[in-house]
Amino acid sequence: MENKLDGNAAAGVLQAIFPFDMTLVQATCTGCGATKAIGATAAYMYGMGTIIRCPSCDTVLIRVAQARGRTFLDMRGVRVLQISAGA
Ligand SMILES: [Zn+2]
Repeated sequence: MENKLDGNAAAGVLQAIFPFDMTLVQATCTGCGATKAIGATAAYMYGMGTIIRCPSCDTVLIRVAQARGRTFLDMRGVRVLQISAGA
């Protein structure tokens, strides 16, 4: 896809939802079990939202969409989030 970015590009979208720096949080993929910092994943930014994919197996980890004044957060691709005290 031509609009592929790294996970750091999604920092602003995620900062509006989570009270810590999500780019530093480690996410374990439900698809392949790989654990990577969100900042090291692949992000796809669209007009309606953001999709964060596992860089190892391409599973969708996090999907964020904004519509009609609401934010829709789908995290079914994340098995575990590891949030460090300093994040
Ligand atoms: Zn994966």
